[in-house]
Amino acid sequence: MSYTKVILKPKKEESLQRFHPWIFSGAIQSIEGKPEEGDIVDVYSSSRHFLAVGHYQIGSIAVRILSFKETIIDDSFWLEHIRKAYNLRVSLGLVGTEYNNTYRLVHGEGDNLPGLIVDIYAHTAVMQAHSVGMHYARHQLTEALKAILGDDLHTVYYKSETTLPFKANLDNEDGYLYGNEVEDVAVENGLKFYVDWQKGQKTGFFVDQRDNRALLERYAAGRSVLNMFCYTGGFSFYAMRGKARLVHSVDSSSKAIYLTKKNVELNFPGDPRHGAFAEDAFKYLEKAGDAYDLIILDPPAFAKHKNVLRNALQGYRKLNAIAFEKIKPGGIVFTFSCSQVVSRETFRLTVFSAAAQAGRNVRILHQLSQPADHPINIYHPEGEYLKGLVLHVE
Ligand code: SAH
Repeated sequence: MSYTKVILKPKKEESLQRFHPWIFSGAIQSIEGKPEEGDIVDVYSSSRHFLAVGHYQIGSIAVRILSFKETIIDDSFWLEHIRKAYNLRVSLGLVGTEYNNTYRLVHGEGDNLPGLIVDIYAHTAVMQAHSVGMHYARHQLTEALKAILGDDLHTVYYKSETTLPFKANLDNEDGYLYGNEVEDVAVENGLKFYVDWQKGQKTGFFVDQRDNRALLERYAAGRSVLNMFCYTGGFSFYAMRGKARLVHSVDSSSKAIYLTKKNVELNFPGDPRHGAFAEDAFKYLEKAGDAYDLIILDPPAFAKHKNVLRNALQGYRKLNAIAFEKIKPGGIVFTFSCSQVVSRETFRLTVFSAAAQAGRNVRILHQLSQPADHPINIYHPEGEYLKGLVLHVE
């Protein structure tokens, strides 16, 4: 069996020979046949050498590579890849312990499965497709998840309405691919979280801050903590366990604040140290005074595309500058950017200019990244998206 052939222009095979997993539409010379979006295609060089097999897409990325070997993409292909992804997480100590049952099982290109995200919350897998090819593979992928996770898996929820290319005109197919609606409590480093994968943001929880939250816990003792952009309160509970004096969680979404309050009751019922406020970050910080000596800034991606980068950088600068202006002397700031288009260097420069604007003496204590269950394929540096700095402000 062979797939539709995509032939590249001369010299356009070079990035593939360096295992970059995308082919841009401009690199294509011709296509033999008429593949539909989401079809599997074979990619050949201009001299007709086989290069790779991948999912065909309409748009600037034309093919996302699944394998650089001549391969049939069948059940055993998916099984093998899910198995590899799972084994890595087991070796990282993230799987199914009483202390932690929340992890990213599949991180797209980082697991050689471009276009696919799978997060695990206790016995629930939340699957998100970013390509039509992965959308079509969702039932096969569910079978692979069942085979690998066995009795540990009770449900698979599919959540791709906002991540699939809207031009593909697919009906919204969000829902359970396996099992029924349950309320699962996710445990991350011993802390508990309700996860609303149906209506919550992304897959329902930000699994990528696990290590950074654990670091925060070490800084929290005796401090007054502001967790800005708290969403479901992740950082707040680590601060409370770390013996913070008080913890204020702020998010502009009242739904997020509702979830944060629910999670307080799961972990620290009735604890008077916690307060939660549904307010805009900038407004809250403006009137905050110097109440805090530990501030977390984990905003949503201000820049989703390169063409809005300038505005986004201004947003990061303004936000960090207010935090520097307000924080008590000797305070600590955990500041993040999850915009993939903002490089580590650019983010650091932006925070530098915010510090200069506030006129405070600021030192970098830690440079943070995404955790090991969000691996970065070395041939695909675009997979690095989360950057953070821990700063000491005199
Ligand atoms: N720190 C969180 C994840 C943050 S996601 C965690 O560890 O889980 C970003 C959050 O910022 C979202 O919950 C969103 O509702 C919130 N948000 C977006 N714009 C905001 C604004 N202007 N002010 C306050 N919160 C905002």
